Amino acid sequence: MTIGDTIYLNPSSQLVRSGQAQDLSRTAEGVHTLAHEMNHVRQYQQSGVASVFKDAIWQAARYGQNGAYEYFTRDRSYRDETLEGQSQIVGDYARYKETGVLPVYAVDGKRQTIGAAALERWSSGSGAYGK
Ligand SMILES: [Zn+2]
Repeated sequence: MTIGDTIYLNPSSQLVRSGQAQDLSRTAEGVHTLAHEMNHVRQYQQSGVASVFKDAIWQAARYGQNGAYEYFTRDRSYRDETLEGQSQIVGDYARYKETGVLPVYAVDGKRQTIGAAALERWSSGSGAYGK
């Protein structure tokens, strides 16, 4: 979770308990987490804390706590995605670019891998890696 420019990691998370949080750049999940949370820092810088809080609460109410992250169910441009969807795209894209690992999500109970071409398209407009 990120508030302003401070990233808070849950002490009971696997990343912290395993010691991976000491250097998030060393594992695929660490890269994803770092890129996702850094994108929230950018959102705060662009829109301000009050605006981000207001939008995040509204989006969680509309799409559900998990649904706000599930950009792949909406097929929108980056700009029109939820705040969590935007950060999930950036996290997924950074993990792919740095480690080659593509995101896998459960859709209607079935595991679905997001393809590289779709990830390239969704990340367009994010600013990540010059996109
Ligand atoms: Zn987030």
